[in-house]
This record gives sequence, C-alpha cells and structure tokens, in this order.
Amino acid sequence: MVTIKQALMLACRLEGLSETARLDVEVLLAHVTGRDKAYLYTWPDRELTSAQQQAFESLFAQRQTGIPVAYLVGVKEFWSLPMKVNPSTLIPRPDTELLVQRALKLLAADSPQTVADLGTGTGAIALAIAKERPRWKVLGCDMKAEIVSLAEQNRQMLGLPNVGFVVSDWCRELPKHAYDLILSNPPYIAPDDPHLQSGDIRFEPTSALVSEEDGLRDIATIVDQAKEHLKPQGFLLLEHGWKQAKRVQGILSAAGYSAISTCQDLAGLDRVTQCQWPGDDKR
Ligand code: GLN
Repeated sequence: MVTIKQALMLACRLEGLSETARLDVEVLLAHVTGRDKAYLYTWPDRELTSAQQQAFESLFAQRQTGIPVAYLVGVKEFWSLPMKVNPSTLIPRPDTELLVQRALKLLAADSPQTVADLGTGTGAIALAIAKERPRWKVLGCDMKAEIVSLAEQNRQMLGLPNVGFVVSDWCRELPKHAYDLILSNPPYIAPDDPHLQSGDIRFEPTSALVSEEDGLRDIATIVDQAKEHLKPQGFLLLEHGWKQAKRVQGILSAAGYSAISTCQDLAGLDRVTQCQWPGDDKR
C-alpha cells in the first residue's frame, strides 16, 4: 500500500519532464482521492485504496509520456472557475486572465453590453466575463460543434444565464454592428516556432495554436472581420505573442482602428492589444 506522502514523493520522477512536477502530482492525487490539496498535506500518512492507487499509477504513467495534467483530469481552473477541457481545445492559460481583466475595464459594468469571444475553446474567457458582469450578454463562438458543446457544458456547470455559444468561423455567423466588445485569444504561434516541440503544447490542437504568416494570419482575419460586427466606438481586444505587439498594432492601424494600445502580462511581456472601431462614417 502507498501513502499520500509516498505518492507525493514520486514528483521527483517528473523532474526534467515537467516544470511543475510537484504540482502535477498534487493535482493527480487530489483527482483520484476526490480531496483537495490541503487534505493531502494534512493526512500524509493515509493510504490510498487499491482503486485509488491503480488510478494514480495509470495517470502518473501517462503524465510521464508528456500528456498534460489538465487532459488527464479533464479540468483546468481559469479565473478561479473550473473549466472542463479535452484534447479538442487549448488548455486555458493564466496569461489569458489579462484579456479578461482588460475586458472588464473597458465597458460600464452596470449597463447592458454585448460581447463576443472568438475561438472560445473551453469557453473560459466568455464564462469568466459573464460571471463577473451579469448584466452583459456574452456570445462565444468556435469553429467545431464538439468544441461549442464543451463550452456549453461548462456554461451549464457554472450556471451562467447571460452567455451562449454558437458554431462560427470567427465572425461569420455573428450579427452585424452588434457588439460593444469583440475579444479573442486566437492562434498566434508561427508554424516553425521550436516552442511547439516541447512540453504540454505538443498535445494541444494545432488549430488553436498555430497561424500562418508568422502567427499573424488569424489575427489579421479577425481584425478585418470585426469591423463589420462592432458597433461604432466598439472595442477589439486581442491576445498575441510577446514579440507581436508592434505588428499587431500595425495591422490594426492599417485597418482603420483608433486608440490602439498594448498591455503586459504578469511576466511583463506585451500580451494584449486593445483598440476601438471609430465606425465607418468617421473614417
Ligand atoms: N500563449 C500560448 C503559448 O504560448 C499560446 C496561446 C495561443 O496560441 N493562443 O503556449
């Protein structure tokens, strides 16, 4: 029989494979025992049941092959909310909370606002905003029905009435001139970026990560399409790679957007650029 403490010590076997070895094991153990992290450290000498031990060993072996913990346990926290995840979607990143923070500051909290989240994946961004702003109406869209259905499951799990999800290739199925804010964490990694060959990212869908033209093609598409779907003075808010701010700003300004500015993530890197659509008559 294995105790919780002995299981936690296996973290050392993930060193080198994972930058978060200890945390990985804690999350797997919490998952198989149905307890939280505080329990694991309060009761280190408790033994796992044989079913728990078997489940843990199987998940641990899969983690050793590189599969992300979030896919193994099927859930990842974002904005302190649990999000169901599966390999058809990107795993929500803490960096992306910056996009949510910015969005919450752009529009008046207490009046009805319309928001669209393009490429919503798990729905994390749309759901976090809907949770913080009950008076806003949020729509999340993604290209594939299976992804939209995952986002919808997350919506139901969180019980949020002011958000919905539809299948749409970026803005294509969305109403025109309807949004006070459009935002997105689109794919923005260049196809030849070596970062794609290591870590969790190897197991995530390429369609959610990689974009042609140095990672900027989808951003350019969104920038172009959003003009027809924003209200005059509506905001566009985009996450992008830390070296892409200048080029994203260039794309936005060439497309006629105004009030363009970039802000930094927790690591101090350029991560989110915002701007406003003046409306066709003012161009
Ligand atoms: N920021 C993520 C990463 O570098 C990528 C997210 C994205 O492409 N939208 O791992």
